[in-house]
Amino acid sequence: MEVKRRSARVVTFGCQMNERDSETIMGILSSLGFEESPSVDDADIIIFVTCCVRENAENRAFGNLGETKRLKERNPHLVVGMCGCMAQRSDLREKVQARMPWVDLVFGTHNIHRLPELLQRVFSGERVIEVWDEPCEVVEGLPAMRAYSHKAFVNITYGCDNFCTYCIVPYVRGRERSRTMEDVVAEVGNLAKSGCVEVTLLGQNVNSYGRGLPPRPSGVSPDFADLLYEVNSVEGIERIRFTTSHPRDFTDKMVVAAGSCDKVCEHFHLPLQSGSDRVLDMMHRGYTAEKYLGLVHRIRDVIPGASITTDIMVGFPGETEADFQATMDMVRQARFDAAFTFIYSPRPGTVAAEMPNQVKDDVKHDRIYRLIDLVNSTAGEVNDELRGAIREVMVEGPSERDTSVLSGRTRTNKMVHWTASKEHKPGDLVRVRILEPRTWTLYGEEVMSGGELDV
Ligand code: SF4
Repeated sequence: MEVKRRSARVVTFGCQMNERDSETIMGILSSLGFEESPSVDDADIIIFVTCCVRENAENRAFGNLGETKRLKERNPHLVVGMCGCMAQRSDLREKVQARMPWVDLVFGTHNIHRLPELLQRVFSGERVIEVWDEPCEVVEGLPAMRAYSHKAFVNITYGCDNFCTYCIVPYVRGRERSRTMEDVVAEVGNLAKSGCVEVTLLGQNVNSYGRGLPPRPSGVSPDFADLLYEVNSVEGIERIRFTTSHPRDFTDKMVVAAGSCDKVCEHFHLPLQSGSDRVLDMMHRGYTAEKYLGLVHRIRDVIPGASITTDIMVGFPGETEADFQATMDMVRQARFDAAFTFIYSPRPGTVAAEMPNQVKDDVKHDRIYRLIDLVNSTAGEVNDELRGAIREVMVEGPSERDTSVLSGRTRTNKMVHWTASKEHKPGDLVRVRILEPRTWTLYGEEVMSGGELDV
């Protein structure tokens, strides 16, 4: 008689850090004999990896958790778990504890490696709530079920020490810890052996990598530039990406390293947040608009054709129309390839949430619409300049919207759709002539080898 293997579903909200944690959680569950379930409906265990960077992320997680009540009534043996950044916030954790008795397991961002023991206790009938306020040493060697075979996220740091006044991350992800260079390079090497061609180095602030690591024979701790050179020497890797950068810590040594490492892709995600020095100061970002713009120009001088994307927030407490106009002016000057735009959402426990002069919702919405219009028009103009250019594209697979065309990304991280002239698999590098650039996507045709790549 065939024994049905138990199945698990990991549902991820939020950022790439959570996506990487979900791969570890699914890796641990797989090592315990669970197979991946295609949906929550058929799973024997469901784990939600939650996010609390903005209120709407919390609401979505609560909605999904609420939904599992029905599934638990149908299958009383179902195990429901919650982890991630919401679990780290005591107020949210207590809310789940009190109002969602069908949630069997709650753990945090610092004790994912404890999952086997925690599940053991749940299977013996206990309701387990175990969240660590402080992280322990970086735990290496945890299993991972990677989402893709051709590309992978590689953590280089955990946590953040910057305490930007609007941000909850330092409170839920802890103090910054860097992995050793040896561990990062070993992981990249193993990924390359398994056929992975692109790695994205992951950290809340990759530019502060190495702080706190033991000094090298040279007497200084390695930094992000040193790491780039090391990863660039790993055979089999074709492309290196990294996120998220911090303009205050992006040194010239790092710009030069990014420019001289042939595998480092010419895309830089550089959150600006605001174009007003007054607001940047209240945000505790540690740079001015002028310094930021100087960095953008320096990157484009050293790496011609580099694409720069950013994060911009509107409605920070005390933000005036003049402050907002300074942000709009920065968008015009920096000519971003793309920008993620956000409305400020007060996070309990952060400094900004207690600040006076909270901006009214209608003003926030008016500003975000004006900002999005400008960002879209700038991005469209920037993409227009690519008409007729030939770009190297890494194949991701059939386009979600139209499976007859392929989709992939340029080294500058632009999404491309094209009609393939032959079979390709994810990770293949092809050349595409851009025929029709649009704001967010480039459409083109495949160029057989020999077409000169336009930088
Ligand atoms: S750098 Fe600032 S915004 Fe980014 S995670 Fe750290 S505290 Fe948050």
